Amino acid sequence: MQRFDQDTLAVRAGTERSQFNEHSEAIFLTSSFVFESAAQAAARFSGEEEGNVYSRFTNPTVTAMQQRLAAMEGGEACIATASGMSAILATVMALMNAGEHMVASRGLFGATQQLFGNLLPRFGITADFVPASDLAAYDAAIRPETRIIFVETPSNPLTELVDIKSLAEIAHQRGVKLVVDNCFCTPALQRPLDLGADLVVHSATKYLDGQGRVVAGAVVGSEGDIDEVFKFLRTAGPSLSPFNAWVVLKGLETLRIRMDAQCAAAAELAAWLEGHERVARVFYPGLESHPQHRLAQRQQRSGGAIVSFEVAGEREQAWQVVDHCRLLSITANLGDTRTTITHPASTTHHRIGPEARKEAGIGDGLLRVAVGLESIEDVKEDLARGLALI
Ligand SMILES: *Cc1c(COP(=O)(O)O)cnc(C)c1O
Repeated sequence: MQRFDQDTLAVRAGTERSQFNEHSEAIFLTSSFVFESAAQAAARFSGEEEGNVYSRFTNPTVTAMQQRLAAMEGGEACIATASGMSAILATVMALMNAGEHMVASRGLFGATQQLFGNLLPRFGITADFVPASDLAAYDAAIRPETRIIFVETPSNPLTELVDIKSLAEIAHQRGVKLVVDNCFCTPALQRPLDLGADLVVHSATKYLDGQGRVVAGAVVGSEGDIDEVFKFLRTAGPSLSPFNAWVVLKGLETLRIRMDAQCAAAAELAAWLEGHERVARVFYPGLESHPQHRLAQRQQRSGGAIVSFEVAGEREQAWQVVDHCRLLSITANLGDTRTTITHPASTTHHRIGPEARKEAGIGDGLLRVAVGLESIEDVKEDLARGLALI
């Protein structure tokens, strides 16, 4: 289905009808599949004959989701996983061995940071963390045993961008693979594989489902790389359930229109915050004041749906804004139809400690809003209430 536009692929790719000719995709809630004969069972197990065997390996509903997301990301293949974290773990396990090394951008999602910084070193896989936008720092950190560069762009919560195209060139010159966590932008805004990245990982929990219903993940890339990820997944087990795959499959159909609406609202909110006298600074790639605004215009379809801002004050003033919200959900989750607000210094970035927070530029007055689908006027009014008290 490669010749179609992404909007068409989002509603059509991966659709395979059963004998009943259903229009919407069926959910195959089955753990295993039966064979016509002993000979067919043997052929399926040996791989001589294609087909489903057991849902830890493959399942038709999961396959449909994988085909759709692969088409939307412009990748050859996709493998779905039980969560975003298992997508990241499976990617590392597929591409790396004990004694090998990776370079990662600073300011990664908290659990990714824990995985790379604390858990994987126990198994002989180590990581160096470099400032997200500093291309020379990635190059300098590459060693003979480096296998991958892993980045998130834009970063959370300060929306720092990684120049994917330039970093892919550096990675390939050094014989290293570039993995991009495309959770914040999704293929609706940014297609890392088109820019030269080797693999894309997703937390489908966020915008791909987009309605806060399931935990899910995915990896997209070349047939060869995805086959390695599949081998790990099939054996280690964090496969996606057919039901959750179906929820994501339907979520993908509305991804673009949701993202367009949420990004437009976020841009409006960012501009309003920038003009607010109780707001010291706004972090949003769609604003001209963003230091990488030009890169954002080149690399992303829009500024995204996440806006961070510093209130004129410290933790007390920031908490005041949070506590006067009546509409916004106080939660660290994002990528939902409902707007969420969080105070990173005391939630998502609490564990890294005050020194690391200072170094990362995450102040006590910082708030992060992940804009949903409510009227942006109502969202502004909700934030204005607390801001007026500062
Ligand atoms: C949420 C998130 C993850 C982890 O995904 P889960 O589905 O929660 O396991 C990874 N990366 C980013 C950028 C995220 O926001």
